Parts: sequence; C-alpha cells; structure tokens
Amino acid sequence: MIRPIRTLLVANRGEIAVRVMRTAKAMGIRTVAVYSEADADALHVASADEAYPIGPAPARESYLRIEAILDAARLSGADAIHPGYGFLSENAGFADACAAAGIVFVGPPASAIRAMGSKSAAKALMEKAGVPLVPGYHGEDQDAGLLAREAERIGFPVLIKASAGGGGKGMKVVRSADDFPEALASAQREAKSAFGDDKVLVEKYLATPRHIEVQVFADSRGNAVYLHERDCSIQRRHQKVVEEAPAPGMTSERRAAMGKAAVDAAKAVGYVGAGTVEFIAEGEHFYFMEMNTRLQVEHPVTEAITGQDLVEWQIRVAQGEALPLRQADIPLKGHAMEVRLYAEDPARDFLPQVGRLDHLLLPAGLPGTRVDTGVRAGDTVSIHYDPMIAKIIVAGADRLEAVRRLEAALAATEVVGLATNRVFLKAIAAHPAFAAAELDTNFIARHQDQLLPPPAPADDMVLALAALSILKEEARQSAEAVDPADPWSPWGRAPGWRLNRDAHVDLAFADGERRISVRAHFRPGGFILALPGGDVSVEGEAAPDGSIRARLGGVALTARVIASGSRLTVFVRGGEYVLDFIDPRLASQAATGTAGRLVAPMPGTIIRIVVEEGQEVAKGAALVVVEAMKMEHTVAAPRDGRVKTLKFAVGDLVDEGAELLVLEDA
Ligand code: ADP
Ligand code: ADP
Ligand code: MG
Repeated sequence: MIRPIRTLLVANRGEIAVRVMRTAKAMGIRTVAVYSEADADALHVASADEAYPIGPAPARESYLRIEAILDAARLSGADAIHPGYGFLSENAGFADACAAAGIVFVGPPASAIRAMGSKSAAKALMEKAGVPLVPGYHGEDQDAGLLAREAERIGFPVLIKASAGGGGKGMKVVRSADDFPEALASAQREAKSAFGDDKVLVEKYLATPRHIEVQVFADSRGNAVYLHERDCSIQRRHQKVVEEAPAPGMTSERRAAMGKAAVDAAKAVGYVGAGTVEFIAEGEHFYFMEMNTRLQVEHPVTEAITGQDLVEWQIRVAQGEALPLRQADIPLKGHAMEVRLYAEDPARDFLPQVGRLDHLLLPAGLPGTRVDTGVRAGDTVSIHYDPMIAKIIVAGADRLEAVRRLEAALAATEVVGLATNRVFLKAIAAHPAFAAAELDTNFIARHQDQLLPPPAPADDMVLALAALSILKEEARQSAEAVDPADPWSPWGRAPGWRLNRDAHVDLAFADGERRISVRAHFRPGGFILALPGGDVSVEGEAAPDGSIRARLGGVALTARVIASGSRLTVFVRGGEYVLDFIDPRLASQAATGTAGRLVAPMPGTIIRIVVEEGQEVAKGAALVVVEAMKMEHTVAAPRDGRVKTLKFAVGDLVDEGAELLVLEDA
C-alpha cells in the first residue's frame, strides 16, 4: 500500500537539511524545518516552507530532543520525518517514538537500527550470515584479562573499538602487549563518556587497508539492491576526508561479491531504506566493519555515478513504493569525488574554528561540480555543531577528469574569516600519488609533509595585487571625498596626483614575521611598483567584491583581495595568502594596542591554568588551556616575559578574543 508523504519535517540542520528539502520540494512535498536558538537565521530555516524553534543552541537541548521535534511535527501537520545524518538518525528510540506518534520515520525499522547499533552484535550477526569479518574478538565478556589474551591470540597490532562507537571516538591502535592495559582503559573511558557504554571489541589492525563501502537500498516489499561502492580511503585519524565512486581498480567480479555481501548483511537485519555497509579491504580480501543505518555524508558521489537521487529513493520507499530500479538496471557511469570543506586549521593540528564567514565563494556552476552547503557569507560557524562549511562534489567522464575538476573546484573556493582545510584538500587533489590512485588509509600520514607545507611567503605577484587593492581603495575613498563642483580635479583621483607626476607612496605589509615595503610610483592609468624582485608596472581595476583584473608587467590575470580590517587575503592561482597592511596612520596604535595581550583563540572553557601571576615564562611555554568542541587548545607564550595578570579561573567560559592574561617584560 502506498501512503503518500505530503509534509516532511527534517530533523536536522546544515547542508543535509537543505539537501533533503531540495528533493522533497522537487517531489511536491511541503517542507518543515526545526531550529535551535543559534540557527534562527540559518539557511535550512530559510529553505523550508515552515520552521519551528526547538530549544537552545546545544544539540542536547534542541536537535536531540525527541519530544520537541515530535511537537513540531504535530504542530506543522508533518506526516513524515527525515533524520538526516548524525543527531537522531541512528537512534532506535526516535524511530519508535515516530511510529508511536503515527509519523513515518524516513529510515530503517527500529529493529534494524538496534541490530547494527552495536558493532559487536552486528559482527556476531554478520558472522552467522556468512559475511567475512576482520579476525578479532567481539564477545560479551569484557574481562580485561580475557581481552588482553584475545589481543595476543589475534596478534599485534590490534585495534580496540568502542562497540557503540562512531566518528572514530574510543578507537585505539595497540602495538604491543605492554601497551594493551592502558589503551584498553583509555578506550573504555572515551567510550563511556561519548556513548554512555564502555563495551569494546578488539580486531586485527590492518597495516595498509582501503575503506570501501557499499550503498544498499531495500524496500518494504522484499527487494534489496546495491548502488555500487565508494572508496573512502583518504582519511585522517580514521575520519573520511575524500570519498569517491567507483573504487579505483574494482573489478566487476569483486563489485558483485561485495555487493552481494552487503545486500546479505541488509537482509539479515530486515533492512528497509538507505544504508551503507562498510568494509575494510586489503589485497584480495574484504571484511565487514560496520553498517551505518542512515544516509551517508558522501552519498552524492553515488548519486553522480548512478544518476539517481537517493533522498528521492528514501522518500519513495518510506511511502511504501517499490525500489525504482532493479539491480541489473542501476547505471554506473563516470567517476565522482567529494571533499568535506571544514572550518578547521591544519596549521594548528586541524583545530576546529568558529567565527563569521566574512567572505564565502563556493564553486557552484563549474562543469561537473555540485556544492552542498548549509551556510552563506555572513553566517557564523558556531561552537555547537559540526564545523563543516560545504561538501564539494565533482564528476567526470573518468577518474582523471574528476581529479582535475576537484582541483579546479578547490582553486575556485574562497573563505575569509575562518581558517579552513581548503589548501590541504587541494594539495591532496594535486598530489601525483592521488592522481595515480595509490589509495589506502595511510595516504595522508605518508604524504603529510607535502600535504601540509608551511605557508609559502607572499611573492611579488601577491604583493603587487595587495598593493593594487590598497591603492585602488585609497583612490576610491579620495574620489568620494572629491569636491562635487570640480569632479575632474586631479586632487581627487589618487593621493599621488596631489603632488606631481613623480609622486609615490610607500606601502608596508607584514607577511607573518616578515615586513615588506613596496614603493608605488604613480603613472597615468597605473603604477610602477618597486617589489622585492624588481620594478613592475601594474594596472587594473578592483570591484567592490574584491575581484581584481590586473595587468602585471603586461601579464593579464584575475584575482581577489578581501580586506577584513587591515588584514588582506589574496586569492590568486588557487593559492591564498594572508598579509597585514600596516597603515602608517594606525601604526602607533598597532604597536601599543595588543602588545602583551593573550586572547582566547575560540570561545570555550578554561580547563587548566599552567602559570601563576608573577611567574617568568620562556617563549613557547604553555600558559592556559582552553577547551572547545571537545578539543584542547594550549595558549603559549609568544615571547619571553612575566605573567602580570591572570584574568580568568579554571571553569570560566570565555568568548573568542577575550584577553586571558597579560604578559610583561621580565
Ligand atoms: P559518514 O561519512 O560515513 O556518513 P561520518 O561519521 O563521517 O559518517 O559523518 C557523520 C557524522 O557527522 C555524524 O555521526 C555526526 O557526528 C556528524 N554530523 C552528522 N550530521 C550532522 C549535522 N547535520 N550537523 C553537524 N554534524 C553532523
Ligand atoms: P566509525 O564508527 O568511527 O566509522 P569504523 O569501524 O567504521 O568506525 O572505522 C573507522 C575507520 O577506522 C575505518 O574507515 C578504517 O580506516 C579504520 N579501521 C577500522 N577498522 C580497522 C582495522 N581493523 N584495521 C585498520 N584500520 C581500521
Ligand atoms: Mg565507519
């Protein structure tokens, strides 16, 4: 029987909420959003036909509150709820509560979520269904001595995993028997605090495996298919960074074997809807790792190679329809890749960033490129949620075309206001080993030095663009100040024209520690810049959005320079450079303004104060530890000195930019 869904509530936020609503709208379904206090102006709210507040910013008090979400469903008359991913998507209690309220849960039956919710129980089930497993122990008995003996039997290195785990939490690699007891205790502690359950499993740790997962789909009429595989081997600390489909080197025999194993896994738990069976593969072998009973973050690469809309499939199945295609009819065409653009700082061990997106340009509109995002320029990435800015998905006729498009898409992406992993992602896309599909889960660790190079110093081209942007801005400002009675007065055009034809100005920039001064000589229509590498003639136009069309020594190029205060971010040739313009009018202020002040890098809680007032510290010494988004960040002394004043105590909440302590000369 088909029960059409007329109003769909999306119990999520961000890009996935926006994405689900896009498909619902295309199907003629009315959309309802829910939002926390932090999200009142968010894109997912603006994308919905109606939106309901569900509580304060912390997810626990909003997006994880089953009752608040069901109330919104009742008030809006929603007949179905899509949970997205994360939050309540794998919460069997939520699926039950929806059913009890007479609302369709767009996801698998609660029983299937429960069966796959514990990695240990899932492995026991898969073993029975004949699905291959990584050698390991996934039993009930959690005696520490027994687990240690099992680790010996399996052979080191082993991996301890939280049975209730996800997102890499509670996972520990153990290399020798001596390290086992401590690693076990720490995995159990993490598992307890993250999932409220300290149960673990132990498996053989494979040295250079690939992560290959299979997209499965089942309907309520007993049909089940696989929509081929995705390779998610490019990972950092066991978290996905790049995903692609199909998996390079996959043969049709192996695809069929893995597809069958995945469909068997789904059938073993009475699965309905979209699910992903994750395998770890090494050499000729592949082993079941876990099943994610929801839509996956990286589902767009599967959509790209099959030409199917997986959210549409989910909704059709939830309405009681049969799967749209039979196994033999599921297309596989071309190659697709996805990267996750995050607000995180690779230079600070990928510390999540919070703050305002002062400028945001995403590469939508390039050939074969799709962008899924939940934010716009001017929005804030907050401490409360996942700091993902966007997913960038590219497709090409073959893998090489997809790689090139990925590089181009990342080159065309611009974010100012927060550090992102853009340059890191672009370095992966540009790496010859990536183009050669030398994929395994150690890829990033292996190529770390090339993927995370220290920032390149600003070269003459970058300095010329920065100088041009400053000169054009000053000309614009003086033109605004011009006497309207005499608009053609040379006094109004540019500062240099005030004096004589040979006038010049000196501009000073700071590139990290390095100070650079650039003398600009005014010439009709442009400038001659005295740059570190020599004189260059420069002309060009700067638009209010920061884009610049310039001619540098005759070479025409386009770039963008975005100013936030005195900080300039120069985007050119796919790279980005940050320079500080040292405005002579403000120089004295800058010298006294922030000297000696040490500020919180992000909003958070003070969890440790390492120093006391009056204590002398050496450059680099740890001073205060701030915790934000479950990550610790140590504020260190920028130079030798003495702690004059401490402004906070352990446990205090601090805003980003709050002065933590004052350092004086010792
Ligand atoms: P996959 O890529 O396999 O789907 P991941 O574990 O990499 O799974 O990503 C899903 C995770 O992302 C969730 O478990 C959750 O921690 C986080 N997450 C999911 N949805 C959201 C969301 N809407 N906003 C913020 N974070 C989310
Ligand atoms: P999560 O719930 O965090 O997604 P998974 O069990 O899916 O946990 O594992 C996450 C990642 O850890 C995998 O994608 C893989 O890179 C790595 N991993 C998992 N099991 C093993 C193993 N036995 N050997 C080596 N790496 C593994
Ligand atoms: Mg996983």
